[in-house]
Amino acid sequence: MSRAHNFGAGPGVLPEPVLAEAQAALWEFDDTGMGLLEISHRAAAFEAVVASAKARLAELMNLGPDQEILFLHGGARTQFFQLPMSLLRGGRAAYLDTGVWTEAAIEEARRFGTVDVVWSSAASGWDAVPRQGAWGPLEEGTKYLYYCANNTVAGTEFDYVPDPGNAWLIADISSNLLSAPIDGRRFDVMFGGIQKNLGPAGVTLVILKRHLLDEMDRELPSMLRYDVHVKHNSLYNTPCTFGIWFVERMTAWLQAQGGLVAVGERNAAKAARVYAAIDASDGFYQGRAQVPSRSRMNVTFSTGSAEGDAAFVAAARDAGLVGLKGHKRLGGLRASLYNALPDASVDALLTFMEDWRRGAGRH
Ligand code: PMP
Repeated sequence: MSRAHNFGAGPGVLPEPVLAEAQAALWEFDDTGMGLLEISHRAAAFEAVVASAKARLAELMNLGPDQEILFLHGGARTQFFQLPMSLLRGGRAAYLDTGVWTEAAIEEARRFGTVDVVWSSAASGWDAVPRQGAWGPLEEGTKYLYYCANNTVAGTEFDYVPDPGNAWLIADISSNLLSAPIDGRRFDVMFGGIQKNLGPAGVTLVILKRHLLDEMDRELPSMLRYDVHVKHNSLYNTPCTFGIWFVERMTAWLQAQGGLVAVGERNAAKAARVYAAIDASDGFYQGRAQVPSRSRMNVTFSTGSAEGDAAFVAAARDAGLVGLKGHKRLGGLRASLYNALPDASVDALLTFMEDWRRGAGRH
């Protein structure tokens, strides 16, 4: 099989060496005489995987001893309600609205308290994130400030950590987690599905500060209680063992790449090349996001018409480039450039974009 150049927004491309390891582990895991999918989540060999994944994540993300790492089910969307259900409890929270993924989180949070949407780029089609502090002072008693670090659909990304003042800081890091250095200690909660930069679908990474566990509603069903999952080391029920194994191997792969400084530089370089091609196309390609808000992970752009975009996507697919169709909410084109996307795929995209612009790909 020749592998396509995969620009899908997630689940997305994974590193070939890790896929090869996964193939072997499916057959026999760690000299157990059993495959990875056949062992108990309570086996010592699997508990070692959990411990190693946590240690590698803590190292890569600069986490402090007061931060708990959980591997949960239900996707990032479950966190949209589980966090306010646990923490808001009739109180007040502030949300920065940068598009589809914050809208959904806001809607869920409203079930559990007062939500102040303190900044929004809805009026300009979600083409930007705010500058630091643009949302002004938060209302007295605001429990947390919530934002989405990278909006996968809009193709916008924060290049700084918002200052929450006295409130806690909650970040949805689904689509840029572990893609650049991060000062993890600044976040009270970070969460994200692993299916973009860190593995297959099926595991939600949640990292929270232990002090929050004391604030939470103990009457909630056990599966929705973070303290229960902390107490049981993410093994309260049967977790997605394959996904957790993948996180352990992916974090090892990231460390072998030189850690997040090196990975971040490579990701920035990949994105810079695609944006440069857009900007040098004399308006043939138009970037969607305002320049200071451009995402390094999801480059959103257009040829200026729905028909032109559809033709681009179809011809790209024929040329072995897949996953370039924009999200259905905003249309257009989107190239996702996650950690595992090789430079060769960016080369192929740039060649295709240039050929297409010159008309070589059209009839
Ligand atoms: N937040 C962001 C930023 C996302 O990109 C996505 C999924 N693409 C979600 C949340 C929802 O994640 P899940 O499908 O894991 O629930």
